[in-house]
Amino acid sequence: MPEKCPVCGFRYEIELGFYWGAMYMSYGLSVLIVLVVGVSLYFLANDPPTWVYLTTVATTVIVLTPLLFRYARVMMLYFFGSVSYDPKYQRQL
Ligand SMILES: [Zn+2]
Repeated sequence: MPEKCPVCGFRYEIELGFYWGAMYMSYGLSVLIVLVVGVSLYFLANDPPTWVYLTTVATTVIVLTPLLFRYARVMMLYFFGSVSYDPKYQRQL
C-alpha cells in the first residue's frame, strides 16, 4: 500500500494500527460471500453434497481475497477515517 495518494496526496495511515479494523470488515465480507454462495448453491444446484459446498465456498473466498483486502481497507477509510469521495480528484481515463 502506498504511503500517500498519488492524485490528492492523502496520507493513508491515519494512525498507527488504523487498518486492524479492516480485518473485521474483511471477515464480515467473507461471511457474506459464504452465505450468498451457500444459499445460491442450495437453490441453484439443488442442495449438492457437502464437499461441493466446501470446495465452492473456499475457492470463491480465496479467489476474491485480494478484492476483499482492498475493499475492507476502503470501507475502513470511509467509515472511520473521515474520507469521502470528491469528484474534483477523479482521474481521467
Ligand atoms: Zn486521493
